[in-house]
Amino acid sequence: MSDRNWSHLLDVPAFPQERYAKLADRLAALMKTQNDVLLIQAEAVLALEAVATSLAQPRLKALNIITSPYGAWFGDWLKRGGCEVVNLVAEAGRPITVDAVRRELNQHPDIAVLSLVHAESASGILNPLEEIVRLSREKGVLAVVDAVASIGGHSLDVDKDHIDIAVIGPQKSLAGPVGLSAISVSKRAWAMLNHGNAPRGSMLSLLDQKEQWLDTGRGILPGTPAPLEFFALEAALDRVEAESIDFSQKRHRLAATATRRALTALGVELWVPDEEASALVTAVKLPVAVQRADLVSQAKIDGSDISAAVGPGTDYLIRLNHTGLRANKEPVLANIKALAHALRHHGHSNKVDKAIEVVDETYSSAAKQ
Ligand SMILES: *Cc1c(COP(=O)(O)O)cnc(C)c1O
Repeated sequence: MSDRNWSHLLDVPAFPQERYAKLADRLAALMKTQNDVLLIQAEAVLALEAVATSLAQPRLKALNIITSPYGAWFGDWLKRGGCEVVNLVAEAGRPITVDAVRRELNQHPDIAVLSLVHAESASGILNPLEEIVRLSREKGVLAVVDAVASIGGHSLDVDKDHIDIAVIGPQKSLAGPVGLSAISVSKRAWAMLNHGNAPRGSMLSLLDQKEQWLDTGRGILPGTPAPLEFFALEAALDRVEAESIDFSQKRHRLAATATRRALTALGVELWVPDEEASALVTAVKLPVAVQRADLVSQAKIDGSDISAAVGPGTDYLIRLNHTGLRANKEPVLANIKALAHALRHHGHSNKVDKAIEVVDETYSSAAKQ
């Protein structure tokens, strides 16, 4: 370690207090919302826990959609607060269907809150967000969306889709710091958050955040803000804005398309069809009889990132990561080469040259458009 000089990380000046509000406004612009945006000084899981804990009360009934461990936790936090939770669990490793959501909403007319994850990096699926939030709006149900992984990778339009509460994190598709996150809150959501059972004097309290930051003119954040994280967020936003959020989404879509075409050329079976696939990671079934952990450890070259999928029903799936800065041609190629090489080691005859050509073609035809 002695050859490393990290001293520039020490003695960091305070983050200028007039810039917190600006950061919230810049995040609101990425989320396409006029709603209030709170800055949370912790990773996104804590922001999700804060939302569930702040909403939960005994007289509330929620439809919680589960397509990964994150959704399961959200339901548990709601229950902990006394909420009556109807968990709607998707087929293992698959997106939820609009029909299943409609059925539950019709069956439980007293449901007041609906929660779901937009895109999953755990299994590489995309939930039909627009249709689901349209249903919830028709029923007057408050929509809560975990867009932590999807922001920057998929289109997210909080106001157009009337998403009452959206939670985001900068560290996935936006390739920013992991130690903070943000929550957008609509007027309707504030009304629902303002109840007798709401936590106060708590890091999980959204009402505390409102009183101590929004209502005091959005100066310095309550508590002790971690300056490194906020400087890093600012740098990440500079980069995202220079590229544009729409281009970031296109870059993720292109990486996913190139990855999926190349995998097909390799003769590897994709886990979900295009319309159900996230642009963040691509999940495939193991095409050979091999321990998944062995294959994952063998599918490694410089610049590649292949890992085991996460969550129920994903035991035979591996993920090729093309999120954030990885949504570019070089990392996509590295993944394909790493996987092809490891599979050949196990007797899977694949045409890696053809797969590389497919990636090249996908990128060059996109460049011509
Ligand atoms: C990564 C992720 C989270 C949690 O973010 P952390 O920063 O790891 O706390 C929550 N939801 C989804 C969908 C994610 O992909």
